[in-house]
Amino acid sequence: MRAFSYERAKTPADAAKAVAGTQGAKFIAGGTNLLDLMKLEVETPTHLVDVQDIGLDKVEKTDDGGLRIGALVSNTALAAHERVRRDYGVLTRAIVSGASGQLRNKATTGGNLLQRTRCPYFYDTNMACNKRQPGSGCAAIDGFSRPLGVIGTSDACIATYPGDMAVALRVLDATVETVKPDGSTRSIAIGDFHRLPGDKPQQDNVLERGELITYVTLPKPLGGRHVYHKVRDRASYAFALVSVAAVVQKDGSARFAFGGLAPRPWRVDAAEAALGSGVQAAAAKALEGARPTEQNKFKLTLAERTLAAVLVEGGR
Ligand SMILES: Cc1cc2nc3c(=O)[nH]c(=O)nc-3n(C[C@H](O)[C@H](O)[C@H](O)COP(=O)(O)OP(=O)(O)OC[C@H]3O[C@@H](n4cnc5c(N)ncnc54)[C@H](O)[C@@H]3O)c2cc1C
Ligand code: SF4
Repeated sequence: MRAFSYERAKTPADAAKAVAGTQGAKFIAGGTNLLDLMKLEVETPTHLVDVQDIGLDKVEKTDDGGLRIGALVSNTALAAHERVRRDYGVLTRAIVSGASGQLRNKATTGGNLLQRTRCPYFYDTNMACNKRQPGSGCAAIDGFSRPLGVIGTSDACIATYPGDMAVALRVLDATVETVKPDGSTRSIAIGDFHRLPGDKPQQDNVLERGELITYVTLPKPLGGRHVYHKVRDRASYAFALVSVAAVVQKDGSARFAFGGLAPRPWRVDAAEAALGSGVQAAAAKALEGARPTEQNKFKLTLAERTLAAVLVEGGR
């Protein structure tokens, strides 16, 4: 691990200013992803700004009946929150399918959204990886690509976004709230938050330098039945090969998003509209334009089957 300096910020504004003011600085929250990456020298921050003391650790009701989740709320607290379990069950189910109890106790809402890909070559500093070292190439494209992306990928990077929580947030139409170093704030729809790689795979999301996530806001509850299925190589403590988050209504309509397939949670409006023509038609619409490798083309069939299972569980 490389040497770095460290400070604990007292307010969100101070934290944003501190990161913007020091070249190579990063926020640290639970540290469950960043510290692993620092030990491997995949991430080499020169300065860490710890945000654990800045507040933002509550889940509150909004005026329109939704929920405002502080960026420092732990994954455990969020999954167990009474309103989340009752009104946003897909979120609880997605969170508890991830990591382990100990990790979820430390992991935060903001940090979870920003966790980095699990592409094995990203973690191996001896291998070419455009995401870790722009312009170095992509060892995965002609290498071991079984767990990697089938859609939304580019010639520069075929990695997936690995998280579970964000797949549920995508179905719930969450908004990510931020504060910038100049004190201004902005709201980013979850569907616009994670970037597709294009020719800049090193940029996972649309945050600017020093921009801090403060809250994630959920609109008022949707009703319906909430389901999350995660298919993986081990029964626990593993990332999704394919996952599906869905909210199924009594009239048979449904919202659904996939994890494990793309560089961001993958939700396609036209696929939801195509459900009236059957699961196969809906899955085909969601996966239109897919470019799998020989090793991961099984994910296309797996995605359709997982969607079918989720819809049955949702009562459709
Ligand atoms: C063994 C293992 C298994 C795992 N399995 C799963 C799994 O199955 N599913 C799953 O979804 N996840 C899984 N995870 C990932 C885990 O969920 C994340 O590591 C965790 O959610 C990250 O949160 P954190 O608070 O620890 O982030 P940190 O590690 O502190 O930070 C992560 C990144 O976010 C930035 N950051 C943190 N907070 C903010 C903020 N408020 N604003 C702006 N930037 C910020 C940091 O600078 C850093 O770049 C696993 C992790 C491990 C180690
Ligand atoms: S798929 Fe992306 S993360 Fe993996 S080696 Fe290629 S560039 Fe790196």
